[in-house]
Amino acid sequence: MTEITLDAPKLFDLGGRTALVTGAGSGIGQRIALGLAQCGADVACLDRRTDGGLDDTLGLIGTTGRKAIAIAADVTSGQALTDAVARTEAELGPLGIAVNAAGIANANPAEAMEEEQYQTLMDINMKGVFLSCQAEATVMLRHGRGSIINIASMSGVIVNKGLEQVHYNASKAGVIHMSKSMAMEWVGRGVRVNSISPGYTATPMNTRPEMVHQTKEFEAQTPMGRMASVDEMVGPAIFLASDASSYCTGVDLLVDGGFCCW
Ligand code: NAP
Repeated sequence: MTEITLDAPKLFDLGGRTALVTGAGSGIGQRIALGLAQCGADVACLDRRTDGGLDDTLGLIGTTGRKAIAIAADVTSGQALTDAVARTEAELGPLGIAVNAAGIANANPAEAMEEEQYQTLMDINMKGVFLSCQAEATVMLRHGRGSIINIASMSGVIVNKGLEQVHYNASKAGVIHMSKSMAMEWVGRGVRVNSISPGYTATPMNTRPEMVHQTKEFEAQTPMGRMASVDEMVGPAIFLASDASSYCTGVDLLVDGGFCCW
C-alpha cells in the first residue's frame, strides 16, 4: 500500500490563523466570522458601527474560545482599512485570511436613479472591496501567504427579475471580475483571491421595504424552492479560506440553490 500523506479533515483546520471579516456586524459576514473562529482562527470583526451587531459577533465568537476584536471602520476609506489591518496584526498576529462582506443594496428604476444613489452604492460595494483587498494583500504579500474571499452575488451573473437595481448588479459583476484580476496579479506570490456569489439569502438586507412582498417569488424562482440561510454561506467560505482550496484562485463560487442553472 502507498503511504497516506493526506489528512482530509486537517485541510479545513484554521488553527493559528488570523482573519479579518468586513461587514461582520450582520448577516453573512457575521456568520462567516463565527464559522472561521469555530475552525480555529482568531478574527478581527470590522463594521461601520460598533453598536449592536459587532457586540453580538464578539459574543458569538467568545463561545468558541478564539480571540476576536471589534473594529469600527468604513470600507470606503483606504486609510481606515490600512489602520484596521495594522491593528489586526498587532493584536491577533499576521493576517492570513480576509473575507470582504460589507455591502449595501437598494433599488430604483435606472432612469430615475440619482447620481448620488448610484455613487454611494458603488463606493461601498465596489471601491470598498478594492480598498479592502489592497490593504489586506499589502501585508499578505509581505508574508508570502494569504486567502482573500470577496462576497459578490449571483446578481453579478444574472439580472434579478423584478428588481430594478442596475447599480447593485453592476457592482457585483465588478467584484467578480476584480477578484479574478487581483488573483492573477498575485498568483505565484502566495495570495489567492476568490469570490462567493450568494443567491437569495435570509439576512437583514432582504427585509428592506422593496423586498418584503417579493420573498415568496424569489423562493419560487429558486430551483431549491427556498432562500439560503446565512449558515449555508459558511462552508463555502471555510473551503476558500483554508488549505482545502489551495489550488483555487480566481474562482467565483456560486452558492445559489441552483438559480443560475435556469
Ligand atoms: P447585511 O446583513 O446588511 O450586512 C452587511 C453589513 O455591512 C452591515 O453590517 C452593514 O452595516 C455593513 N456595511 C455597509 N456599508 C459599510 C461600510 N461602508 N463600511 C463598513 N461596513 C459596512 O447584508 P448581507 O445580506 O449579510 O450582505 C453581505 C454581503 O453579501 C453584501 O456584500 C451583499 O451584497 C452580499 N449578498 C447578499 C445577498 C442576500 O440575499 N442577503 C445575496 C447576494 C449577495 P449597516 O447595517 O450599517 O449598513
